[in-house]
Amino acid sequence: MDRQKRRKKSSNLHFALIWTAVLAASLVGISIAHYGSVPSWAKAIRGHFLKGPVICIDAGHGGDDTGASSGDQIEKEQTLKIAQLVADDLESDGIRVVMTRNDDSTTSLESRVQTANDAGALGFVSIHRNMYNGTKTDVKGVEIWTSHDGEAGGTELARLVLKRLTDTGYVTSRGIKGGSMDDPDTDYYVIRNTQMPSILIELGFLSSEDDRAMVEEYADVTARAIADGIEDWISEQTETESTT
Ligand SMILES: [Zn+2]
Repeated sequence: MDRQKRRKKSSNLHFALIWTAVLAASLVGISIAHYGSVPSWAKAIRGHFLKGPVICIDAGHGGDDTGASSGDQIEKEQTLKIAQLVADDLESDGIRVVMTRNDDSTTSLESRVQTANDAGALGFVSIHRNMYNGTKTDVKGVEIWTSHDGEAGGTELARLVLKRLTDTGYVTSRGIKGGSMDDPDTDYYVIRNTQMPSILIELGFLSSEDDRAMVEEYADVTARAIADGIEDWISEQTETESTT
């Protein structure tokens, strides 16, 4: 191709790119004028295609709601610690993260769901710790909750995160569960109301000395395993997207 043609082709490409940008900006502008805010589809496009996926990390409890406690272990503190480590790991790998709370503030379930939905997150990961008050001494391990009917699409995300956790060698799996502790047919609020695949990790028992290690001396490894599971899942989503 001679230089003249090459220049012409390149200016055509620029022209097309500029018009695509103008068209996209107009569509978003019209939608803002119409709906009063950036519509969710525009956020999703912006999130997934222009800058890569967003993952919402939810540190369970917070503020007035301490969650469970056992001796000096307080659930709301441990969930925030692990959530922040997971977020750091994801961000250092170029994945955008929104957190439902990043300090000890009281955070309603509604606000957690809204944070995830407003961000157009690709996936939602809630972090909790479990508590056992019975007489057995060997109750320990991680269980991951998702929707009972599989409709929310969290089962694969749960499977990959649980696999990475058990791969550490010190995590016992209690499996993937649907619904909630009180009712196997009713999902947890955050699972039920988020618009993307969502999971709730019960990261071991406050009542288990063995499980304590996963949020104390092995906290970094535990967080890295959760981040790796999420990244495995993102890769699967991206592959599915490009082959369909
Ligand atoms: Zn909890």
